[in-house]
Amino acid sequence: METSNILANNPNLKSWVEVPANSDFPIQNLPFGIFKTRSQSERVGVRIGNQVLDLKALYVLGYLENLPFEASDFENKFLNDLMGKGKKATRDLRNHISKLLSHDFEDLKVNQHHVDQVLIAADKIDMCLPVQIGDYTDFYSSKEHATNVGTMFRDPANALLPNWLWIPVGYHGRASSVIVSGQAIHRPKGQIKPDPTQDPIFAPCRNLDFELETGFITYEGKPLGDSISTAEAEDFIFGMCLFNDWSARDIQTWEYVPLGPFLAKNFASSMSPWIVTLDALQPFKVASPTQVPEVLDYLKCDADKSYDINLEVLIEPKGGSENLICESNFKYMYWNMSQQLAHHTVNGCNIRCGDLMGSGTISGPTPNSYGSMLELAWKGTKPLKMNDGTERKFIHDNDTVIMRGYCEKDGVRIGFGEVSTEILPAK
Ligand code: MN
Repeated sequence: METSNILANNPNLKSWVEVPANSDFPIQNLPFGIFKTRSQSERVGVRIGNQVLDLKALYVLGYLENLPFEASDFENKFLNDLMGKGKKATRDLRNHISKLLSHDFEDLKVNQHHVDQVLIAADKIDMCLPVQIGDYTDFYSSKEHATNVGTMFRDPANALLPNWLWIPVGYHGRASSVIVSGQAIHRPKGQIKPDPTQDPIFAPCRNLDFELETGFITYEGKPLGDSISTAEAEDFIFGMCLFNDWSARDIQTWEYVPLGPFLAKNFASSMSPWIVTLDALQPFKVASPTQVPEVLDYLKCDADKSYDINLEVLIEPKGGSENLICESNFKYMYWNMSQQLAHHTVNGCNIRCGDLMGSGTISGPTPNSYGSMLELAWKGTKPLKMNDGTERKFIHDNDTVIMRGYCEKDGVRIGFGEVSTEILPAK
């Protein structure tokens, strides 16, 4: 679908809603989420600055006429019904909201009585899981990450397995345990083998790790048996979020042979609450790394398909302050989202509205850009120093792990907010 008609991306737009300098949410962003208040049930919101636009209220007041949406699309526990209307409809909706919020357009701005009903301070609401996730797939698409893991656990000379440069490797994850930022989780328990020469024991995970990832959310795909090409793939992507794919490394080491991740991964994965539309990200498109050997035809792309998204990870011990431990970028990804989606469907597998695809851990080329504790502390051999003097090889109880991300170009900054999760002691 043509992207030159995305009026909401105009870098010159200014809003009559106050947007603080360096906000993740200028008028050029307008991400979608689900929120609730003490007195009102779940509904669709669009974030601008430190305010949230209530789309249900906006609809009731008649500001969303001539768009193919109904009240139930906006007063809803999830974004699925809204996304179910398709890419053209959601693009038109974002363009229309941009107009309503823009400085040069008077309809809403001059009606303070209405403004009071549709704008709510972001610190007065609770954010909810934005999508009813049907299926969750996680990829393994960062060459640096795969190389680091292969170097640590197998053979530095043959760190990448033979299929890695040919296939965007992935596995089917668990949708039921995907949670929204702010929800704490307990340290998982399971079978671990602290002494490799002894039998396994049942105990709380000792090597709890995060994975710095992004996720993308799909529109309804094609019927079972059909495939989505790399050229079509972005038409099937609604937007992106930050994604922490929690991993119990010691459980993983023992269980993963021969079928791959299971209980080491399915106890929780955390996502940020605001879905930044792929439309909003178009100005930040960049080339992916050169692929050698040349990929098979169905994985070739005819244009740039990656995005320049700065990513960071912080650890905040309870009662302490934030420690920045990782700075990476989405653009390092060897396999882009279009290739992931083309590969996922090349065998005829169907995707549905509200599926979640994880990028895989996004590690960059330098040691401070590695996207997991496993790599940052190099299997526990290089502990990270916190600013309170303590050390981390993996994540401790009562640590909060925070991920943030943003794009910046030509004076426009589009951010994702954050995904933040506290680790409570094992139950
Ligand atoms: Mn992962």
